[in-house]
Amino acid sequence: MAAEETRLRTVDEHLELVLDGVGTIEPIELTLLDAQGLLLAENVRADLPLPSFDNSAMDGYAVRSVDTRGASEADPVTLPVIGDVVAGTKTRSGMGPGLAMRIMTGAPMPAGADAVIALEDTDRGVARVAIRRHVQSGEYVRRLGEDLQVGAPALAAGSALGPQQIALLAALGRDRVMVRPRPRVLVISTGSELVEVGQRVAFGEVTDSNSYLIAAAAKDAGADARRFGIVADDHSKLLDVLESQLLRADILVTTGGVSMGAFDVVKQALSELGTVEFTRVAMQPGKPQGFGHLGNRVPIFCLPGNPVSALVSFEAFVRPAIRKLLGKRTLFRASVQAAALERMDSPAGIRQYRRGILHRDAVGGYTVSLVGGAGSHLIAAMAASNCLVMIDEEVTEVVAGSRVTVIPLLLSNR
Ligand code: AMP
Ligand code: MG
Repeated sequence: MAAEETRLRTVDEHLELVLDGVGTIEPIELTLLDAQGLLLAENVRADLPLPSFDNSAMDGYAVRSVDTRGASEADPVTLPVIGDVVAGTKTRSGMGPGLAMRIMTGAPMPAGADAVIALEDTDRGVARVAIRRHVQSGEYVRRLGEDLQVGAPALAAGSALGPQQIALLAALGRDRVMVRPRPRVLVISTGSELVEVGQRVAFGEVTDSNSYLIAAAAKDAGADARRFGIVADDHSKLLDVLESQLLRADILVTTGGVSMGAFDVVKQALSELGTVEFTRVAMQPGKPQGFGHLGNRVPIFCLPGNPVSALVSFEAFVRPAIRKLLGKRTLFRASVQAAALERMDSPAGIRQYRRGILHRDAVGGYTVSLVGGAGSHLIAAMAASNCLVMIDEEVTEVVAGSRVTVIPLLLSNR
């Protein structure tokens, strides 16, 4: 084979190809709580001012500020109380000079009043009230439009919808908004040795954990993930299943069947279509990778079958693709530098990902230790880890105490 053909593709090269191969999804309209965590796909303007009427910021008495001039603890001003205004009062009350109205928080300011005196600065009187402090005009009054003027921009397209933004939309009377939808990710496990979770495992059989692993990881990345389940190592069955699922997915992910083996059916079946490319990436685990499109449209990732390989491949390629479809600005997890608690080796020219346990040390830095060996079948060790330790291509040895790049696998807040 020519040198060019045997050269492995770097992780960054493969990632670039993957990201070029995922487009965007048309915005959809969702109800507010379904839109949580997504990016707004429209500019929202205020159809009404916030607050929409002048109202009281305190429980107290609505007054004319001039009538409280000179009032003090020692020399209170006493005013007749002509009535109550409660929150929910639908008509605007009015008030002449030298009078007061008892008012509750959120109740509309009576016409004629320009300030509220807090209960605690009065004798709490019902028929007459003794006021022990002078108030400024506007004190404890929430002004119409002071938060947002009618017609003003409220939220720009691209804003992430967290609880605060959802509250604003609700306050503005919007119960539905246009958002970038969650990509529908369909996960298929391939392998004739696989059985469904909960089924008795006979000799030679393996419970399918990958479809749970990848569906959970896809959900965590923000996708709307679904497990198709297991497909045996059978050429035509695989193609049938993929075809039947094409319209229901924005991303397809298969695991297994992409190595050099005689029964690596995913690779054999999809290579023939000519739209999915199988390649070897300079990473460990996760060397064999397939990526392309089906039905001219749907990106498909064919990940290796070992669970750790599948997870590392997902983190390296599928997660950024999901984030891109969501419209997120940050496609990648934040990494940290940690002091290695042990020596770590890595082959030259290969980016190695090991499972690790990241700790915070006493002075606020990080340390990291490895958990489990390099074997990519070690599911329990993977479950014990909270991070991936990333040893760059050019590094062959990390001595204990030196710095290494760590990607914490924090649960996202979807
Ligand atoms: P493959 O990539 O198909 O050669 O599979 C590599 C290894 O991963 C084999 O030991 C498989 O039994 C195992 N494996 C493949 N798919 C799964 C899966 N869905 N769940 C758990 N193990 C799997
Ligand atoms: Mg297999």
